[in-house]
Amino acid sequence: MPTGIITVSYIAATILFILALGGLSNQETSRRGNLYGITGMTIALLATILGLVTANYNILIGGVIIGGIIGLVLARKVEMTQMPELVAILHSLVGIAAVLVGYANFMDPASHFSGVEKTIHDVETYLGILIGAVTFTGSVIAFGKLSARITSKPLLLPARHWLNLILLISVIWLCFDFLDQSAAGSGIVPLSIMTAIALVFGIHMVMAIGGADMPVVISMLNSYSGWAAAATGFMLNNDLLIVTGALVGSSGAILSYIMCRAMNRKFLAVIAGGFGTSGGVPAGSTEEAGEVISINAEEAANLLADASEVMIIPGYGMAVAQAQHIVYEITRILREKGVNVRFGIHPVAGRMPGHMNVLLAEAKVPYDIVFEMDEINEDFPDIDVSVVIGANDIVNPSAQEVPDSPIAGMPVLECWKGKTTIVLKRSMATGYAGVDNPLFYKENTRMLFGDAKDSLENVLAILHS
Ligand code: NDP
Repeated sequence: MPTGIITVSYIAATILFILALGGLSNQETSRRGNLYGITGMTIALLATILGLVTANYNILIGGVIIGGIIGLVLARKVEMTQMPELVAILHSLVGIAAVLVGYANFMDPASHFSGVEKTIHDVETYLGILIGAVTFTGSVIAFGKLSARITSKPLLLPARHWLNLILLISVIWLCFDFLDQSAAGSGIVPLSIMTAIALVFGIHMVMAIGGADMPVVISMLNSYSGWAAAATGFMLNNDLLIVTGALVGSSGAILSYIMCRAMNRKFLAVIAGGFGTSGGVPAGSTEEAGEVISINAEEAANLLADASEVMIIPGYGMAVAQAQHIVYEITRILREKGVNVRFGIHPVAGRMPGHMNVLLAEAKVPYDIVFEMDEINEDFPDIDVSVVIGANDIVNPSAQEVPDSPIAGMPVLECWKGKTTIVLKRSMATGYAGVDNPLFYKENTRMLFGDAKDSLENVLAILHS
């Protein structure tokens, strides 16, 4: 294929990827954004396979078919609640790919760089492997934490900051050693030691992060996977990979910044790990005195029917229960009765950015009644009934009231300021951050225990009758 066609295809793919990102920023245009992304990726793959690759077609096509089938099966099988862990494990594949490409590139006998060019190429290889290795193990641990295979509590090794500093200094020192040795025709030893350190650092970095701070880590690993791909693009001299990697890397970095702001955290403090657990009450041990008032579906339905302002606050439990369609049905009926129903969405509700928006869009809840936390948090004093559906950390008043709580300082939806709050959950268990929730014991809170979908089905039946 002529180089001109490859260049034009790559430019077209780049434009489509940018349009895809633009489309995904809004629910109404997200479907179109996805289509742009799929078209861009198809063009990119075709141009690369038909234009750049000149040999070993059997291995390539075999790999594409096996990878394609695995991707198809996973995408069809995965539950909406497993999406965050799937995304995490997919990030790990980008990381390991960067490591393998880096080694293959370093050992390539056909490599013909010399002088400054060689040094630059070696730095690209070193960085690509470094970022790739951190992304790989970090994402595997994030997968474990999100799928509850690994505890969400932070692992706080003594002197962990010193450990991180020593690892960082070693990696910088090894880089110079690698450049020296590579110029003399070797370098595999410092490269391998650095890879081992980066793999350990990835594990330690994510293990040290507390449950409530995981959203920042997810978006940060997303960003790392982009930079790893960009570094691979430099190694392979592939412009499209550089641009695509930079797009993923920078959008992930922006998302990390947004997540940090949403949680009132400093990025470096999150990365340092164990936020909010030093010197205070460890997660899950707050002793909460008081009684909870539980109600049944009929009482909940009556409260809703008598209200004129209702705020629905969905959380991770709504995703687990797959209750979004019933929620929409209840919303429809209440709106028909003249009740003003709105949805309040916390930026870190659920287990991935935009998790609740996706579920509500799937259930066809109109976008104009779905509000971000900042838009509605001041309206709670005027709300008659807030319905908290499988949410916990995002409505936990201890973020404001208990200074040494692991979630202290994180902005939350202040539903307790309204007249009544109905909380739907199965037990008194804590949320992802493992912190007890004083909301459940407030005088104006009513607990509706049970699976959210079952409870809401009962409420719907009563509202219908
Ligand atoms: P939480 O995890 O705090 O709480 C979810 C609640 O849902 C639990 O207390 C659970 O209680 C309840 N629940 C679970 N299953 C059901 C069910 N079938 N029916 C009814 N209730 C159910 O979720 P939030 O959305 O409030 O907060 C999100 C948390 O996840 C935050 O700590 C956030 O930092 C973290 N996180 C968010 C990410 C993101 O990107 N959004 C990524 C990673 C972590 P019970 O067992 O009693 O039913």
